[in-house]
Order: sequence, then C-alpha cells, then structure tokens
Amino acid sequence: MLPVMEHFYTIQGEGYHQGRAAYFIRLGGCDVGCVWCDVKDSWDLSRHPLVPIEELVSHVEQTPAKLVVITGGEPLMHNLDELTSLLQSKGFETNIETSGAHPLSGSWNWICLSPKKFKAPLPGILPHANELKIVVFNRSDFEWAEKHEALVAPGCKLYLQPEWDKADTVTPLIIEYIKQNPQWELSLQVHKYINVP
Ligand code: SF4
Repeated sequence: MLPVMEHFYTIQGEGYHQGRAAYFIRLGGCDVGCVWCDVKDSWDLSRHPLVPIEELVSHVEQTPAKLVVITGGEPLMHNLDELTSLLQSKGFETNIETSGAHPLSGSWNWICLSPKKFKAPLPGILPHANELKIVVFNRSDFEWAEKHEALVAPGCKLYLQPEWDKADTVTPLIIEYIKQNPQWELSLQVHKYINVP
C-alpha cells in the first residue's frame, strides 16, 4: 500500500521526457519544505489514503500509457521496490522525480534528481541520476547547480528550470547562464502553460 495524493494520465511537462504521454502517480508525504512548493497539500502523509499497489497499477493499465512517472511529495519517503517491479514486469517504463533526500529504492528506467537546499540529497543517489534538474528561484541556485553538476555521473542531463512564480525574473538569468555554460539546458513547465495537470 502507498499513500496516494492523486494519479492521472497526462503529458510530462518538464525535463528530458517533456512532451511524452505519461501516467503520473503523486505520492503523499514530503519533509523537504521548499518555500515555493506548488504541491504543499502533499506534505501531510496522513491526508492521503493508502492504496494497494495492484489497484494503482490496474488504473495505469486502463490507459494506453507506456511511461509511468512517480512523483510527490517526496516519493522516496516510501519503499518503491514493489510498485516499480510490478510496473516493469507489465512492460511500463518507470521514471521518478525526487529531491533525493531519502534512500533510493525502486527499479528505474530514469531518475530525475531535483536537489533542494531545504533538505539536501543523500550522496548515494547522485551517481544514479539520469537527469539533474535545478529549480532556479534566485541567483544562488546557479552555485547550487554547479555543486551538484560536479557530483553526478558523466552523461547526466543538466536542466535549469525557472521557479514558476519567479519565471519573469529568473528566466533571463537562466538564458544568459546557459549561453555561458552550454552543457546546461532550459526546462520549462510546459504543462502549466498549456493548462494540463
Ligand atoms: S521536494 Fe517537492 S513536494 Fe517537497 S517541498 Fe520541495 S517542491 Fe514540494
């Protein structure tokens, strides 16, 4: 059983898999405490019903989805071995969006690591990240990005993403930064522009 805040079939709006159809499972619980978090309702674990893993997977199977994204909250507050094994055994691709602040569990086709200053990632996850996504809220986040760039494996995709409410201010800074540091790319939360979940 896992605490589920919501689950829905949509398109992935950000990062490397942007634009792909994806079934999202948003798990409840987060102790990271980002001041700008846009899913604060996820934080309190007790507000989200426990759902049997088989039931969750059966919802995914009712759609044409190939890709399943596990997000939160902070999904690694829960052991995800059983959920991801079942999904992969049924042929689904498993992606996770995590701050890395809890031990890595689960079997993943893609790990999107988005480290947060409010509760830093555990070092063990960094070499496993396929994608490093830094949310830029102010200028100091570029330093935060460089610190983690040095710790991920070669070939890890590097993304800078404007914090939604600060986008007008920080997007021009990100563009300039990327022009000077072209190993980084811009990630936009396209789902918010096109108004899908
Ligand atoms: S890690 Fe994610 S869910 Fe948790 S506080 Fe930060 S943005 Fe919100």
